[in-house]
Amino acid sequence: MAMNHWLEGVVPVYRKVNEEEFELVNGSWKYGSYFSTLLTQSNLYLPWVKRRLQLNGITFKQRELNSLKELTNDYDIVINCTGLGARKLCYDRHLVSLRGQVLKVKAPWMKMFFYGELDTYIIPGFNGIVTLGGSRNFDSENIKLCPYESAAIRERCETLIPSLKNAEILRQEVGLRPHRDGGVRVGDGSRISNHSKAIIIHNYGHGGYGVCMAPGTSIMAVNAAVELHKSTNSKI
Ligand SMILES: Cc1cc2nc3c(=O)[nH]c(=O)nc-3n(C[C@H](O)[C@H](O)[C@H](O)COP(=O)(O)OP(=O)(O)OC[C@H]3O[C@@H](n4cnc5c(N)ncnc54)[C@H](O)[C@@H]3O)c2cc1C
Repeated sequence: MAMNHWLEGVVPVYRKVNEEEFELVNGSWKYGSYFSTLLTQSNLYLPWVKRRLQLNGITFKQRELNSLKELTNDYDIVINCTGLGARKLCYDRHLVSLRGQVLKVKAPWMKMFFYGELDTYIIPGFNGIVTLGGSRNFDSENIKLCPYESAAIRERCETLIPSLKNAEILRQEVGLRPHRDGGVRVGDGSRISNHSKAIIIHNYGHGGYGVCMAPGTSIMAVNAAVELHKSTNSKI
């Protein structure tokens, strides 16, 4: 990765890769950035967040909606985080699925993450499990694993870090990123319907960056909800 001045200010360490670090990767790399950052592993983080919310008295209800208007009688404020579901619920034609595939391998010797060209990434997680990626298939909603794509990902990662040839594959995963042409829709809101005082604030379309952006966009959504609530005759 070439130097990125946006990242420079937000991570604890950000500098050029030195000669010793270039030795860690295969190929004749001339430019690179070294930085430290935090890792969020969603399958651990989300249950932890849910538990904390429950301990604070929050209850969870799960159901499929055909329309946001179904919520008008039961709630005063709705924050809409439905990702790709907003295509149907908000008639938002700017949302596009950006399919991605990754491999999880056992490689406890990997202690640093690497980002190369063509969406090639190697990210050590917990318990020696390393994520190998990746791919971006625009406008694809195929959630079946593609063996050719897996082979290509593995080959790109092994070319970058040859020791990964010894890594056992644990599983492979496919996901759909909620990409939105024009960026995340966050902060704008309105009454859900003319017949109700309930308000809705949107927060969807995070594409491939929802985990790292969520702490920021959720604050924006909550602030917008407070402002809109103040300026309407909401019933609470
Ligand atoms: C391979 C891959 C790698 C990624 N890597 C990263 C990364 O390194 N860093 C990063 O920050 N992000 C990454 N992402 C992106 C990240 O996972 C997404 O941005 C994030 O999950 C979006 O979260 P969300 O809650 O907005 O949407 P979603 O996770 O899609 O959640 C939307 C929710 O709304 C619900 N819903 C939708 N419609 C309805 C309806 N009609 N009724 C009821 N419920 C509904 C869905 O069931 C779902 O629970 C990656 C994604 C993929 C696929």
